[in-house]
Parts: sequence; structure tokens; C-alpha cells
Amino acid sequence: MTIKRDYYEILGIDRNATDEEIKRVFRKLAFKYHPDHNHDDRAGEKFKEVNEAYEVLSDRDKRAAYDRFGHGGAEGLFGRGFEGFDFGGFGDIFDAFFGGAATATRQAPQRGADLRYSITITFEEAALGCEKEVTISRTENCSLCQGVGCKPGSQPIRCPNCNGTGQVRRVHQSLFGRFAHTATCEQCHGEGRIITEPCPRCRGTGKEKHKRDILIKIPAGVDNGSQIRLSGEGEAGTRGGSPGNLYITLSVKEHEFFTRYNDDILYELSINFAQAALGTEVEVPTLGGKTKFKVPAGSQTGQIFRLKGQGIAHLPRGGHGDQLVMLFVVTPDSLTEKQRQLLGELGESLSPANMPDAKKWKGFSQRGL
Ligand SMILES: [Zn+2]
Ligand SMILES: [Zn+2]
Repeated sequence: MTIKRDYYEILGIDRNATDEEIKRVFRKLAFKYHPDHNHDDRAGEKFKEVNEAYEVLSDRDKRAAYDRFGHGGAEGLFGRGFEGFDFGGFGDIFDAFFGGAATATRQAPQRGADLRYSITITFEEAALGCEKEVTISRTENCSLCQGVGCKPGSQPIRCPNCNGTGQVRRVHQSLFGRFAHTATCEQCHGEGRIITEPCPRCRGTGKEKHKRDILIKIPAGVDNGSQIRLSGEGEAGTRGGSPGNLYITLSVKEHEFFTRYNDDILYELSINFAQAALGTEVEVPTLGGKTKFKVPAGSQTGQIFRLKGQGIAHLPRGGHGDQLVMLFVVTPDSLTEKQRQLLGELGESLSPANMPDAKKWKGFSQRGL
């Protein structure tokens, strides 16, 4: 037969302790030794002992009998011992005192973070497509331990503090009484497992930083602000989670003389008065190189001509926009004496009959694209 400890001693209270005091101390000790979160081998025994002491001392009659006759008194008088004590039952009592059981765990696989980079490309590269190599810095799973964090050949152990759940229950005192809340286990930081022999390469993190050159295929037709997604090229996941994505945002440089309007390209062609009046053939640049362009006689500033299919690829449906050639009749501002004379004569010869109907040219100057 084992010798039983004194109930007052178990609870660490005075023989004159009030009912309130007994209750308060019991809550504290019951929480401390509750098997749900105290995994010390002796915690179960202590928990049983604390409950037994409380059962007797919280009952006026049992306490009086215990005070007079000791253990024998309490047991003898009421005919019950505590040997067949049911732990599950006390779990319920505990929950009634301290709130619900901890359920959440943090051990689910976590997807890696996405990475975002931006690159600048030229107008032509955006219009025609290109390949670019970018150097990114990202975390990957450790090549030695494959992301586990353990020295090869060793295994992580289940955290004894939280029994592998990653969570512990805490009780705090408020104005309205005691409340339980679930907190992350401090010993394993919520992982539920502890690495006793860390991997020498990653020091147990399971991760290592790498610089990687990634080839990015940029399709024809992308625009300023377009984003390209490279699935799985982001940061490594945790606990077997999939890696994140890599997003590349494109910034397109302005072109020296092309302007983009959706998938059309605008080119402003300057001609002189004589070219506009007589018509001419000039070379204009396009995405595919220089091409001959016929300016019809009697052309006006602001008049727009379409070079079909010479624009930018439609994404993602295919086909191409057009190149728009907009005319600007530029007035000469430095003339020789001869030119002045010729222009003077020309001016004198011109009459309203030589000029186009206002309807024909009005609105050309408004850039209604
Ligand atoms: Zn490692
Ligand atoms: Zn833990």
C-alpha cells in the first residue's frame, strides 16, 4: 500500500483555507497537470492526486471527516476510493472550467510565396515577342535534406510539450473569471515536431537561398504592365507544400517614332507642301522594316492611312492590328530668295477653286483614332 500525501499539502494550502481558496488553487494545479498539455510522465499521477484532494476538500462533510480521521476517515466514511478514477471524466470537468479543447494544428503543407519581378523591354520586343533571361533570388528546398531540416538519416521527434499538435491551452484571468485560449506551442513554434539533429547544410530550416537564371518567353503583343506567370518558379513550399509562382511585370520603353493604340501603331509622317499637293512616294518604317508608301496628291494634315496587318499581334486571339500613317504637312521656315519668289508666284496663282471643300479636310486635324 502506498502512503498517501496529505490533501492540504497536495494543494499547497493552509488547513484553514476557505472554499474559495481551495477552488482557486485547484484550478491552477488542475491546469498545470492536465494530461492534455502536460506530457511529463508524472503529470497524470499529480493530476489524479490534485483532483482527489479537491473532491474531498471541496465537500464540507468529506472535509470534516478528513480533518478528523485522515484518509481512512474520508474513504471509510463514504465508502469510496479513487483507484478506479476515470481520466476521461476529469477531462470533461476540466473543459467546463477552462473552455473547449484545442483543435487547430499548424502542420498542414503550406504553399510557397509568390515572387514578383519586373523587366523593361523595347517597343519592338513587346510587339514582336522575345526571350529574356532574368536572375532571381529565391528559397528552395535544401538539397541535402530535401526540405525536411533533419540531418540525413535522422528523423524529427514529436514535440513532447504539445504532443505533436503545435498548440497548447492557456488560461487567463479576467474580470469575468478564467478563460482558456489556444496558443502556439513555444517549444516547437507550432510545428508539432522538433528537429534534434539539424541538417548541417540548412541548419534545420529545410531551405536554402539560390540565385537562378530563368528564361522568360515573352509572346508578341504584350503591352506595358502585362504580367507573365511562371507557375512553380516562386519560393519553395513548407512541409511538402507546392512552390509559389513567379510573376514578371513588363515595362515597355517608348519608341522613338511609333505610338501604340491598342494593337495599332501610329506613325506620323511629315511631308512638305509640294509633296502633299503633288503626291509622292516615300519610305516609312514598319515593324517589319521599311516599306514604300504612296502619298496621294492633295493630301491634308491629319489624314490617316492604314497599312493593314502591319500592327501588333492580338493577344491571345491571334491576327494583327494595323499601322496608321498620319500625315503632317510641314511649312518651311527657312527659304532661299529663289524659293520665296516661286512660292510668291504660286500664292498669287492660287484661288479658292484650287482648295478642297472644307468637309474633306475638317476633322483630319482631330486625332480621332
Ligand atoms: Zn537541409
Ligand atoms: Zn510543441
